[in-house]
Amino acid sequence: MSPSSSSTPPAPQSSALPPSHPFNTDNEHNTSHVERAEQAILTSKVIPQRKPLLRLEIRDLSSEGTRAFLRLVHASKSLEHAVDTVLKNLYTGLSTSCIPPTRSVTLVLRDMDGVAYTTGRDIDDDHKEIHINTKYISQISESRQKEEMLGVLVHEMVHCWQHSAFGTAPVGLTEGVADWVRLKAGFAPPHWKRHGDCDWDAGYERTGYFLEWLENEHGEDVVRRINQALKECKYDADRLWYSCCGKSVKDLWKEYKKSLEDCK
Ligand SMILES: [Zn+2]
Repeated sequence: MSPSSSSTPPAPQSSALPPSHPFNTDNEHNTSHVERAEQAILTSKVIPQRKPLLRLEIRDLSSEGTRAFLRLVHASKSLEHAVDTVLKNLYTGLSTSCIPPTRSVTLVLRDMDGVAYTTGRDIDDDHKEIHINTKYISQISESRQKEEMLGVLVHEMVHCWQHSAFGTAPVGLTEGVADWVRLKAGFAPPHWKRHGDCDWDAGYERTGYFLEWLENEHGEDVVRRINQALKECKYDADRLWYSCCGKSVKDLWKEYKKSLEDCK
């Protein structure tokens, strides 16, 4: 989420993690699935030049949201998994010098407005802080709480490692990349859907699903190429979209909208 973003909690719906999901530890019979999924992550792990320090800061132990987090989330495992997921999706096959030099990520659980945001420390932007609103956590239906917390964590973790053309990339694009990784990680909430009634850079899942479609049309590494194009210089729409997909983003969006209508 961007620092100023806020959204209403998703409507309560029951949704279980798929049996093969690495965090589905509820069912003993899934042990082999869990092991296989964890092994898959290990074998294709992308290692940054320097392993980030991961920290947890809890501002109010007695808040309902904090209690839910501590009851449902294995903090160290989930933070490490979020880092691995983000690096795998954004940097597989690339040199470690392509990865931002993030040195630490602190997850701060506190009562605030909105859902969550990520920021760099004033004194050194390589130290990131992910703030998640404990009031928001407490308002999520119990059946969705764990998956929603892990999904928000993955989304915010993307902001700790993605490129943004020195802050000049459209916010809708960086937010779309964050939700695309969340989608790839298997944490898409049940209320998400594909939208064509907006611009390509409407952000979040609207842009996330557009990026997923681009993967099918322009190669599975297209989001990695877009992210890398945002590393070197300021955002130039024509240069970026022509070099990554050979077309303007307007034309790509038109094709995407058509594909949605064809599916109806
Ligand atoms: Zn975001």
